[in-house]
Amino acid sequence: VMRSTDVVIIGAGAAGLMCAMTAAARGRRVLLLDSSNKPGKKILMSGGGRCNFTNMYAEPANFSSRNPHFCKSALARYTPWDFIALVDRHGVPYHEKKLGQLFCDNRSKDILNLLLDECRQAGVELHVTTAVREIARADAGYVLDTDLGEVTASSVVIATGGLSIPTLGATGFGYEIARRFGHTVLPTRAGLVPFTTSGELKELCAELTGTSVAAVVSCGEESFRENILFTHRGLSGPAILQISSFWHPGDTVTIDLLPDHDVLEWLQGRQAARPDSELKTVLGEVFTKKMATLLADRWFTSRPMKRYTPAELRGIADTLGAWPVVPAGTEGYRTAEVTLGGVDTREVSSKTMESVKSPGLYFIGEVLDVTGHLGGFNFQWAWASGHAAAQVA
Ligand code: FAD
Repeated sequence: VMRSTDVVIIGAGAAGLMCAMTAAARGRRVLLLDSSNKPGKKILMSGGGRCNFTNMYAEPANFSSRNPHFCKSALARYTPWDFIALVDRHGVPYHEKKLGQLFCDNRSKDILNLLLDECRQAGVELHVTTAVREIARADAGYVLDTDLGEVTASSVVIATGGLSIPTLGATGFGYEIARRFGHTVLPTRAGLVPFTTSGELKELCAELTGTSVAAVVSCGEESFRENILFTHRGLSGPAILQISSFWHPGDTVTIDLLPDHDVLEWLQGRQAARPDSELKTVLGEVFTKKMATLLADRWFTSRPMKRYTPAELRGIADTLGAWPVVPAGTEGYRTAEVTLGGVDTREVSSKTMESVKSPGLYFIGEVLDVTGHLGGFNFQWAWASGHAAAQVA
């Protein structure tokens, strides 16, 4: 059977669903195809089951791309407030967790149901477990070889996401299509991902598994203030996930474990006030007892405060205020929240997401070289880019 439609969207994730409901609401006939057995699996998994669906303070500076200007137009034309209005219309309860991050009160499924409802109402035809084998140019658009048979469409939207979490349906299909139509695909790597460690550092992390502390984590020019979490494999927690997107193998990450203190001044003060207390007891004022003991014994050999010379105290302050860590690597795509790199935005229109190489072909969401920080920014990019393409596709 030969089918004909206006728009075929490949990938029923965050970007594909937004694009589908918006294009269909404009009166376009939309076919939404996903090779996975369910739509929106990452939405369901997101935000620890509560979907951090946007960030009230989203702005271009929260995104990384080889072309930092690319995201501006779409983000300005579909803002967090537009998505919040949609969430409000559906009566989905939510709250701000911190730093502008909006989460569902109940479960991520509320967001997926909202998108699926909108798609249904607008008449989107959704098919899951449906693979697309081939896409070729045809007279008035494209012809696709799919599990539904041959489909012709004037527009094709690639919304296949990145490579992270292969078990949730991630494939490199979007990148392959991009290359086939003459696009540059910038090297991809895992982002928003925990670090693995080796040797003594790994032992330390393992012993502190489950401990979380506020820190400022820096790498190169970038720095994030949030919690870090010690795990049996290495380091995780929001500040680590953030910095991982800016880290390259071999780079040193610097961790300020006492971001609220001038550490040297504080240690000198404690030395004067508690000269007979051991360092580990003093560190216990700011860290958990376990962490205080471990750091005091491993790094400094704990003794009474009065027994440290000024130079030794400065050494302790330097270590606590700027702990240098060289990660062994990252956990990779297996646990990464996002994929850095992807379809080069210099060959895509920032207004419409249309390919400059092949008219009628669009790229939206994570498959593009646009990656948000942690905190609801990646979904905001999916909504905004999906919405932009839907105005013209
Ligand atoms: P996806 O949502 O990944 O959708 C791509 C779709 O394409 C999938 O349904 C897939 O099955 C389909 N597909 C793939 N290949 C093919 C193919 N060959 N043919 C047909 N279909 C195909 N971001 C936030 O902003 N807030 C969060 O709270 C958050 N939490 C996250 C938690 C986890 C565990 C993970 C992994 C990510 C999280 N993210 C979060 C990131 C966010 O989920 C993604 O950035 C976002 O889903 C990208 O949207 P997308 O539509 O581009 O891709």
